[in-house]
Amino acid sequence: MVANLPVSSYDQKAVQQAVDRLFALLRADERIDPSWKITVKPNLLMKRRPEEGTTTHPAVVRAVVRHLKALGVRQIVIADSPGGVYTRAALTGIYRASGMEEVAKETGASLNFDLGTTHCPQPDGAVCKAFDLINPVAQADFVISVAKLKSHCMTGLSGGVKNLFGCIPGLTKPEFHWRYPNEDDFSNMLLDLCETVRPGLTFVDAVVSMEGDGPSSGDLRNTGLLLAADNPCELDRCLAHVMGRKPESLSTVRNSIRRGLCPADFEAVRRTGAELPVFRDFKMPRSRTVDFQMNIPKPLRGAAKPVIERFFTPRPVVDPKICIGCGKCAESCPAHTIAVENRRAVIHREKCIRCYCCHEMCPVHAISVKRSRLLEKL
Ligand code: SF4
Ligand code: SF4
Repeated sequence: MVANLPVSSYDQKAVQQAVDRLFALLRADERIDPSWKITVKPNLLMKRRPEEGTTTHPAVVRAVVRHLKALGVRQIVIADSPGGVYTRAALTGIYRASGMEEVAKETGASLNFDLGTTHCPQPDGAVCKAFDLINPVAQADFVISVAKLKSHCMTGLSGGVKNLFGCIPGLTKPEFHWRYPNEDDFSNMLLDLCETVRPGLTFVDAVVSMEGDGPSSGDLRNTGLLLAADNPCELDRCLAHVMGRKPESLSTVRNSIRRGLCPADFEAVRRTGAELPVFRDFKMPRSRTVDFQMNIPKPLRGAAKPVIERFFTPRPVVDPKICIGCGKCAESCPAHTIAVENRRAVIHREKCIRCYCCHEMCPVHAISVKRSRLLEKL
């Protein structure tokens, strides 16, 4: 079941009313035992302030924690493994900038500083048979994911399913990009992860969303919505509708439909709350490729693929005038193909797998995704 309500701003009272109502619409209170250890997992991709729209807004996290407190839950941890290193110092900076430190102080929830992981087998995984998850997620009785609606340069959508990538610790994340460079394989890995974490509830902060070059360099868009669901795949199917996208154009949604984790037909998703608006002009990242293969006779497609990929897949480009030489792109590059030379990042393109982690993690937007000149004309 997917529930949604219109919320026009991050006014705390309005957000609290909506979150309380979403819990009620999903009859979630009945499923929560106050003696449980509950982990609230926002999207804390990087050290950004709430108004930059990269991270889940603290007003939404605060409202979820307050609701749990009112139910009598005492053990609540706010946890995420952001991009980059997973250290106490990095977490402290991100909790402070994102407003989570203040949420914890006001509500009495704890902030996670346990840097350990737990091995979690996933024998039924389609592409990945085990994950090492951050302890607060692996050891929780109930996980509540609080995602942010953003476009995403690799999967198209950062919503309920993609938010769970933050359950993988720190610099292990780039290894997954290396193991699953293909978009469908990567999305299937995310779905295996989703089946492993099995969040009991997923909220999506779509009051202000990110469109264009998300998940960190896009434009903010007032979409005025809060959503919640017990099934993150169904929730993402609804987000595809909100973004005015065909479900098959977003790889996590496409593969969750293929795997029977959500219906293909939007009308078949069980929904409650308000009517969902559609933003048909929601901008997608420039990294989204055009599938030329469809115009090539089937027998020739295999041979054409490497040429198409080489010449037409958008590529990351560093602007040396903006780069500050911090090395965060090199740290997160799974192909180890970025070097910081003379305090500027240099991408050695031959080994690049076009995962766009560098673009995602650059704190000053120095890396853009460029389409080939031919594509720009299309
Ligand atoms: S250079 Fe950027 S896009 Fe290429 S592999 Fe490294 S992180 Fe991924
Ligand atoms: S491109 Fe961005 S992330 Fe990479 S070194 Fe320069 S400023 Fe840092």
